[in-house]
Amino acid sequence: MSLRSRLTLFYTIGLGVVLVFFGLSVYALVSVVQLRQVDATLDRTARDLIDVTRIDERGQFVLSQRVSLDSSVIVQIWDLEDHLVGLTLAVEPDSPLRQPFDPNSMDANTPMYSSVDMGGVHFRVLTVPLHTGGTPIGVMQAATSLTVIDALRSEIVRYLVVLSVLAVLLVSLIGLVTGSRALEPLSQMTETALQITRADDLSRRIPTDGIVDDEVGKLILAFNDTLARLEKLFATQRRFLADIGHELRTPLTVIRGNLDLMRRIGEYDEQALQSMGQEVDRLARLVADLLLLAQAESGKLPMDQRRVELDTLLLEVFNQAHVLAADRVQLEIDKIDQVIVCGDRDRLKQVVLNLLANAIKYSKDGGKVTVTLSKQGGQAFLAVKDSGIGIPAEDLPHVFERFYRADRSRSRAKDGTGFGLGLSIAYWIVRNHAGEIDVKSRVKRGSTFTVRLPLAGPDCAEYTTTDLNTLPQPAAVPERTN
Ligand code: ADP
Repeated sequence: MSLRSRLTLFYTIGLGVVLVFFGLSVYALVSVVQLRQVDATLDRTARDLIDVTRIDERGQFVLSQRVSLDSSVIVQIWDLEDHLVGLTLAVEPDSPLRQPFDPNSMDANTPMYSSVDMGGVHFRVLTVPLHTGGTPIGVMQAATSLTVIDALRSEIVRYLVVLSVLAVLLVSLIGLVTGSRALEPLSQMTETALQITRADDLSRRIPTDGIVDDEVGKLILAFNDTLARLEKLFATQRRFLADIGHELRTPLTVIRGNLDLMRRIGEYDEQALQSMGQEVDRLARLVADLLLLAQAESGKLPMDQRRVELDTLLLEVFNQAHVLAADRVQLEIDKIDQVIVCGDRDRLKQVVLNLLANAIKYSKDGGKVTVTLSKQGGQAFLAVKDSGIGIPAEDLPHVFERFYRADRSRSRAKDGTGFGLGLSIAYWIVRNHAGEIDVKSRVKRGSTFTVRLPLAGPDCAEYTTTDLNTLPQPAAVPERTN
C-alpha cells in the first residue's frame, strides 16, 4: 500500500473513531436530558393529583377540587384490589389504557420510573404507591408517550450517521488529493535519484522549489548534501588515482630507461644502478606514506599513549634539521618550555620533522626558521615560522590535502622528494592526538605552522627505559616522511 493511501486510511479511521465517539456522546446527552424533562413532568403531575385526591366515607377516591393536568400525561389510580378507580382520559371500555401501564411496578413500595411498551406505544411511567395515615390505599401510575422523543432520537442518529459518512468520505478525498500534492516532491526525488543512478551523474540536484522548511524540503536538502559529498568524494578519489599514477610514472620511467640502457650496452652500469636504487627507495617511501595516511585517516594507526617530553623531542629534531639546513638556512629556537603531552613519540617526531623540513625546503638561501614551544591555554603550542616563499591564499585551505602542492613545478623541482603527503600525514597524526594544526602564510614573506596538543593528564603512562631503547635511533641524515 502506498504511503499516500496509508496516510489517508490512517486519518480516515481516526476521524471515523472521533465521529462515532462524538455521535454516541450527543445521542446519550440528548436522551438523558429529554428523559429528565419527561420524568419531571410526570412527577409534577402526580404530585398535583395526589394533593387533591381524597377518600370519602365510602372508601371512594374523590377530587377535593378541580385541577388542570399536563395534557400529555395520562394518570391511572388503582385501589388495593387492582380495580381501576380513576383515569384522566375518557377511553373505550375495552381500551388497553384500562390495563396498568406497568403491571410489574404495581407492588412498588416507593415511587419508581419505568419505560414500557403498551399497544405498540412506548411509554414512560411513574408508579407512586398511595397511603393515607401510613396505610396503603392504592397505586397511581402516571404515563406519557415517548413517541416524540424516540422520533427525535432516531432523527439524531440518522443525521449523525449521514454526516459522519459524508465527513469520512470528504476527509478521504481531501487526504488523497493533499497527500498526492504533499508527496509529489518525494516522487520527484525518487525519479531524480533513479536518473542519477542511471546516468551516473552525481552533479545533478533535486530542485526544492523554494520549500525548504518542511520535512520533504529538509529531506531533499539532506539528499542533495549527500550527493554533493559523494561527488566530492568521487572527485577526490579520481584525483588521488591520477596523482598516484603521476607519482609512480616518473620513477618507473627512470627505472625502465636505465634497464633499457644496460640491456643495450650489455653490461652493468654503476650510475644507472644507483639511479634505479634511488627511484626504488622513492617508490618505497611513497607506498609507506600512503599506507600510513590510509591508517591515520581511518583512525586505525597504531599509536602509543605515553608521556612525551615535547621539548626534548623538539631539540632532537632541531639537531637533525641542522643537517638539512646546512649553511643555507639559519635555524633558531625562540622559546622552549618544558611541555609534556600524551601520545606517540615517533609520530609526533614525524610531525615536527615534516614541518621543520618544509620550512627549510621552502626558505630562500640565507632565510631564517624559528621554532617556539610553549604552554598556551592549557595546551602545548608549537610554532614553526619561516621567512620563505610563502603559500598563496588560494592554496592555503588545501595544503593539508593529500598530494596537494602549492606550486607543483617549484615543489618538486627543488629536490624531487616531495609527494605532497607530508602535511596530510602531519594533519592526521595531530588529529589522532586530539590536537589542531594550522597555517598562516603570506607570499614572499613566509609561513607559520602551528600545532596545538592537549597536555598529558595524570593517567598517561610513562615511556620505560626499554621503550626508549626500542625507539628508532635518529638517522645520521634525517629523512623526511616523503
Ligand atoms: P611536499 O612534499 O610537496 O612538501 P607537503 O604536504 O609537505 O608536501 O606540503 C604541501 C605543499 O604545501 C607543498 O608542496 C608546498 O607547496 C606547501 N608548503 C608546505 N610547507 C610550506 C612552507 N613552509 N612554505 C611554503 N610552502 C609550503
